[in-house]
Amino acid sequence: MPNSTICLSFDFDAMSVWFGYKTVGPAMLSRGEYGARVGIYRVLDLLRQYQLPATFFIPGHTIESFPEPVEAVLAAGHEIGHHSWSHIDPGQQTLEEERQDMERALQALGRLGVKPLGYRSPSDDFSPSTATLLEEYGFLYDSSLMADDFRPYHPHIGDQVSAISPLVRGREAYFWELPMCFEFDDWPHFQFNFVPYRNGTSAPGKVLDIWQNEFDWMHSHIDSGILTVCMHPQVIGRAHRIAMLEQFIQHCQAAGDVKFELMGDMIVKLAAS
Ligand SMILES: [Zn+2]
Repeated sequence: MPNSTICLSFDFDAMSVWFGYKTVGPAMLSRGEYGARVGIYRVLDLLRQYQLPATFFIPGHTIESFPEPVEAVLAAGHEIGHHSWSHIDPGQQTLEEERQDMERALQALGRLGVKPLGYRSPSDDFSPSTATLLEEYGFLYDSSLMADDFRPYHPHIGDQVSAISPLVRGREAYFWELPMCFEFDDWPHFQFNFVPYRNGTSAPGKVLDIWQNEFDWMHSHIDSGILTVCMHPQVIGRAHRIAMLEQFIQHCQAAGDVKFELMGDMIVKLAAS
């Protein structure tokens, strides 16, 4: 006790995330570009300063639109995970569209020399086919679901449940789930939007309070707990927020007996144990 682990993860969506909105204009796209021009380099600088590894989930759209910062992520030795090609919610795709998008992203990653161990859905949700596709393409882990907080688990495939019938369990997936949650996602806290309206203007002190309390509870109650933090360079890269992330890192390090790990490394160790 406590032997805590923190997995810092960054969804480097750049412009791709904005195509998920009903209408997209130059100003919205410029917010995505900010992530590739400014945010990503602030994140990389902070990680370099504290010598921390991190996992970056990068859509193929970003890989092919902004090759320089993607190369900088690779050159720094961080892990790159699969985050679709087009950043379209798989729930809005047919099985064939989802498969084609998944393969197109694998090809974009492959051209970088990356064979991803992990996947995060572009909407933090699955279609009815996503879990089966992840098994088919041999992913070791996913980080989109929320059925646990500090412990990896195997999600179920083929669960049957509805509002009028109780849960009938399917089988356990082969891959691991490193659960995420919206409390530990910078986007809902910070990302303002007009339509659909999101306030998104949290003070960093409020978010830091949530993050530190969550970490402190895990560190004092859970043996070998793993905390996954999900961030976006276009969000966390703003000055007051990157300062908050630095404070959070310092807080965790001061607690002692805490390590920062790549998500892929955590799962490889877990699968071998
Ligand atoms: Zn994303």
